[in-house]
Amino acid sequence: MSDSSDIYRLDDRKVVVTGGARGIGYAIARRAAASGATVALLDLEQVALDEAAARLRHDVQGAEILAQTCDVSSYDDIRAAREVLEAGWGRADVLVNNAGIFSNAPAQEMEAREWDRVLQVNLSGAFYCSQVFGASMIEARSGTIVNIASMSGVIVNRPQPQIGYNVSKAGVIMLTKSLAAEWAPYGIRVNAVAPGYIRSAITESLLGKANLRDYWIGGTPLGRMGSPEEVANVVVFLASDAASFVTGETLVADGGYTVW
Ligand code: NDP
Repeated sequence: MSDSSDIYRLDDRKVVVTGGARGIGYAIARRAAASGATVALLDLEQVALDEAAARLRHDVQGAEILAQTCDVSSYDDIRAAREVLEAGWGRADVLVNNAGIFSNAPAQEMEAREWDRVLQVNLSGAFYCSQVFGASMIEARSGTIVNIASMSGVIVNRPQPQIGYNVSKAGVIMLTKSLAAEWAPYGIRVNAVAPGYIRSAITESLLGKANLRDYWIGGTPLGRMGSPEEVANVVVFLASDAASFVTGETLVADGGYTVW
C-alpha cells in the first residue's frame, strides 16, 4: 500500500455524479475533477447541464467533462445515459448517487403522490443507478459507489415535518449496507455520506423563515451550516483508495448536529 498522498486522488477515474448540475452535486464534480478524475454530470435540464459543464471546465483547467440529461427516477433514462457514456468514455469507476428532492409535509397531510415521488427520486433513483452502472462494475470486478444520504436518515429533524424525505434517506443508508455486502465479492465498495444542514439555494431561502435559524444553526455544535465543498471532500475521500477498507459505512458530516 502506497504511503503517498496520491491515494486521496482520483487520477484517471471516471466519475458519474447524478444531480451534478448544481449544489452539492456540482461541488462533488468539481472536487473530483480537481483530483484528476474525468467527470460525467447527469441531471434533468440540458441548459443547466451545459452551464455547469462550462463552469467546471473553467474552474478546473484541462478537466474532461461530459454532461448528459437523465432523470434518475426513470430506469430507461439511466440505461440510455449509461450507453451514451460508455460509448464515448468507457465504464464508470465511481458512481455518486447525489440527485435528491426535498419534501416538507405533516404525515397526516402528505399526499400519496408526493410520498411516491420523494421515494422514487431519492431511494429508487439511487438503487436504479447503482444497478445499471453497477452491472459494468461487476463485470470489471471493480468500482465504488457513494450515496448522498442525510442526517435525516438517522434522526428526525425539527421543526420542519419531512416524513417522506426522512424515510427515503434512511432507505439510502440501508441500500448502502445491503449493496456493500452483496457486491464486496466483486471488488465494489459502497458507502454513503449523511450531510447535516448545508448551504444551498433552498436552505438559504428557508433560513429566513420562522425560527429555522435557531433550530438549524443553534442545534449545530460547530455553530454554522456546512458548505457543499465540505460534503464533496468526504465523498472524494470515500471514493478514493484512501478508503480502500471502508464499505457499507455512512459517514455523517453534520457539524456535530446529531451529537446533541
Ligand atoms: P439541489 O436541489 O441544490 O440540487 C439537486 C440537483 O439534483 C439539481 O440539479 C436537480 O435538478 C437535480 N435533480 C432533482 N431531481 C432529479 C432527478 N429525478 N434526476 C436527476 N437529477 C435530479 O440539492 P442539494 O445540492 O442541496 O442536495 C443534493 C443532495 O444532498 C440531495 O440528495 C439532498 O437530499 C442531499 N442533502 C442535502 C442537504 C442540504 O442541506 N442541502 C442536507 C443533507 C442531504 P433541478 O434543479 O432541475 O431540480
